[in-house]
Amino acid sequence: MKKGNLSRVKDVLLKIRNIVITTHVNPDGDGISSELALYLFLRKLGKQVMIINKDPVPEMFAFLPAVDEIRVSEQIPTHPDLVIVTDCGGLERTGLKIPENYNPMVIVIDHHLTNDQNGEINLLDQDASATGELIYHLIKAMETDCPAKMDYPIALCLYTSIFTDTGSFRYSNTTSEALEVASKLLSYGINSWTVAEQVYESRPYATLRLLGRFLQTIGISRKGRFAWGSIVKEDFHKTGTREEHTEGLVNYPRSIRGVEVSVFFREMDSDLVKISMRSKGEVNVAAIAEKFGGGGHHNAAGCTMKGSMMEVRKKVLRIVSESLQDDVPEEDSVEVCG
Ligand code: AMP
Ligand code: MN
Ligand code: MN
Repeated sequence: MKKGNLSRVKDVLLKIRNIVITTHVNPDGDGISSELALYLFLRKLGKQVMIINKDPVPEMFAFLPAVDEIRVSEQIPTHPDLVIVTDCGGLERTGLKIPENYNPMVIVIDHHLTNDQNGEINLLDQDASATGELIYHLIKAMETDCPAKMDYPIALCLYTSIFTDTGSFRYSNTTSEALEVASKLLSYGINSWTVAEQVYESRPYATLRLLGRFLQTIGISRKGRFAWGSIVKEDFHKTGTREEHTEGLVNYPRSIRGVEVSVFFREMDSDLVKISMRSKGEVNVAAIAEKFGGGGHHNAAGCTMKGSMMEVRKKVLRIVSESLQDDVPEEDSVEVCG
């Protein structure tokens, strides 16, 4: 992270009054916790601040402080002086529509590999475990120059952000810096089990029925280097679940011994499919996702593609086959390609 940018962001935040905070579409634990932490801190500073997201908060994060104050809309209702985009590359990924003839200042706070740096100030660190880790440093830097201080609710958000983006401290972004920040956050009185229980041990029964259907779709390549699975709209109807209940499904194909890449296909509409990719080790799935207009991190990336489930699966699995020099077995090709 460029220290210069940290102090520039700090100066702007201390000065500007009217602020909107947002994150990417289909927000996750890092996006939501990051914006809430900033929101709580800026409110303590007496700022006029609002969180606006295009998509609602998944149920698993309903325990976070001030979560009910997040507004779900595609429009920015006021004309803020500043829009802070967290956990993604810029306004395009947020799905928000900015009123015409209106150019607010934009600050991007993010840790993705794929980032166009199109904010006026970009507080970026690809080595940060989560956007929440960057916000921790920002709040700590601001604390010294203003009356507002880090407290339990803010620490709870930031801990949740690092906890979820490191896959409960399992992924390679579980660096010593990440654990150091998490440790400092615990010292504000956070109970690690309470967070784990809220996020991962309080699932609705229906999500397990969805998981059951998903597991039956899992296929594996000829040499066993990649595996995939899918969810179609009917699965949601049959189990009474929603998109947010697919969280974590992509990890199951990756958990197979020898599998280096897993791909999860989710039917959004009859001609639109969301793709999530995860890898173990060497393979950079962000580079594969970028070929389809998406992006992400080395080991976790995604994109959205036009086309039917069958068409999209065929296209994506062909590219993955090529990058791994492996291929889809014939019997699966018939099923995959119709
Ligand atoms: P997901 O599979 O949706 O959990 O996303 C994995 C990672 O890739 C996250 O860090 C996302 O922010 C990123 N990502 C997912 N979809 C896109 C996209 N269309 N464009 C850029 N980044 C994406
Ligand atoms: Mn995210
Ligand atoms: Mn993140």
